[in-house]
Amino acid sequence: MKQYDVIVVGAGIAGLGVAALLSKKGYNVLLLEKEPILGGRSTSFEFKGYLVDIGLHAIASLSSSGIGQLLAETGAELQEVPIKPSLMHFDLDSRAYMRATSPERFGQELYQDFIRLVRAVSRMDRNEIDGYHEISAQSWIMDKFGNPGLLEFFKKITGFSGQPMEKVSAGAFLETLNDALISETTICYPAHGGIKALPDCLEKVILNNQGEIITDIRVKRLFLSGDRTAGVKAGISRPSYVAELDFYAPTVVYTAPLVNLPRFLPKDKMPAEMANKLEKIRSADYYYNGIVLGARSSLMEGFSEQFFQWTFDRSGMDWHGIVTVPTYADPDLAPSGHHLLFIDSHGPMPYGRADLANQRQEELIALAREIWPDFDQQIDWIQKLIYPTILPLAQLNLTGPHRPGFHVPEIRGLYLAGDATYLTGSGIGSAVKSALKCVEEIDNKTNA
Ligand SMILES: Cc1cc2nc3c(=O)[nH]c(=O)nc-3n(C[C@H](O)[C@H](O)[C@H](O)COP(=O)(O)OP(=O)(O)OC[C@H]3O[C@@H](n4cnc5c(N)ncnc54)[C@H](O)[C@@H]3O)c2cc1C
Repeated sequence: MKQYDVIVVGAGIAGLGVAALLSKKGYNVLLLEKEPILGGRSTSFEFKGYLVDIGLHAIASLSSSGIGQLLAETGAELQEVPIKPSLMHFDLDSRAYMRATSPERFGQELYQDFIRLVRAVSRMDRNEIDGYHEISAQSWIMDKFGNPGLLEFFKKITGFSGQPMEKVSAGAFLETLNDALISETTICYPAHGGIKALPDCLEKVILNNQGEIITDIRVKRLFLSGDRTAGVKAGISRPSYVAELDFYAPTVVYTAPLVNLPRFLPKDKMPAEMANKLEKIRSADYYYNGIVLGARSSLMEGFSEQFFQWTFDRSGMDWHGIVTVPTYADPDLAPSGHHLLFIDSHGPMPYGRADLANQRQEELIALAREIWPDFDQQIDWIQKLIYPTILPLAQLNLTGPHRPGFHVPEIRGLYLAGDATYLTGSGIGSAVKSALKCVEEIDNKTNA
């Protein structure tokens, strides 16, 4: 029976980060992943000669996301292209690009208030921001500036996913904005190999440091020795056989979706308070909606040669669209003479409403035809995409002290990591920071 120091459940960015950091520090690590590929929601797959990102289309700046620290501490190598400027807007009527925050778009009065807001948020420190988790972003903005135009503008910024500002906690709002303002570049993208380059470089670190990775294996349950973690039960299911396997370690890091935690824990060990928070997350699931397409490069000719990512909307629309062209960062993602494009709709989309999803995708295709009058002649293929997202956490008052957190107090040796566990924000930055924080705690405990 092989005993590990740490078992990590789930090989998304959080699980890979934890396993890479711990294996680098000399821990004997086993990483278990239910899918055949690593990376979870941050990876890429091949399709018709293109390399298509599964979820994430860009990486938050290396400094604000914690990725820079993760790469430095693990020695992982990732070459990235900084994307700047990142907040461009395309006006459907005038067909002009402008900064999303330009005075021409805002009008002078709104622009001046926006600048005052930016100055105030840039000067804030994290302690001050952490004091704002109990009120909504709407209250904060209206108390300080009294300008409803600002509420409307922030509703249409990516990080807030189309949510009205009364649903976003002021703590989440201020942290997201502060991160963006203090970073030199807001987003970047791997220079080669799509988003998959990130899981790939972390996998290398784990294997080089004698960590073990098993894919195609579903972890089912935690088992304990008294109130202490002892290992996990996992299953392999193939057409020709079914196997149940036990793996042993005194420390387990769970990074699979938090909503599945009740199934992973022994029945009597699920704290009621955490169960309530998880139910709130489960019932508020949203989809991101979009289309991905392979296009001839001529589609973009005379259009935007430089903007990796830009937004569009139209008055009266309660959501906005984002166009991402990752082939501007890495032309190898598409066959020569072609571009890969994602067109996403950012706005709440209730879980399980395939009819609404389909309607939104049709609207996106109609808007794409407005953006590019020769759209149909220039497209090689088009696919519809729906993906689950945890972005609404920031909008459910589930930030700061209200997040489920890193521990199940009743169980020693069990840690939780992943984007939904980190105190603030959402997305890859939260996943990476949760990994860094979790490893710091494990290391402190081990060396105490
Ligand atoms: C469409 C889309 C667009 C996005 N865009 C952005 C963006 O632009 N910027 C940004 O910062 N973030 C973005 N995100 C969010 C970002 O991708 C995630 O926050 C991040 O990848 C989460 O990482 P994670 O490790 O916490 O979770 P995951 O990536 O979900 O990893 C969990 C892993 O656990 C595995 N697993 C689950 N159950 C089991 C089990 N029982 N046994 C073993 N393994 C299991 C899963 O297969 C998965 O690999 C986007 C997400 C989506 C879906």
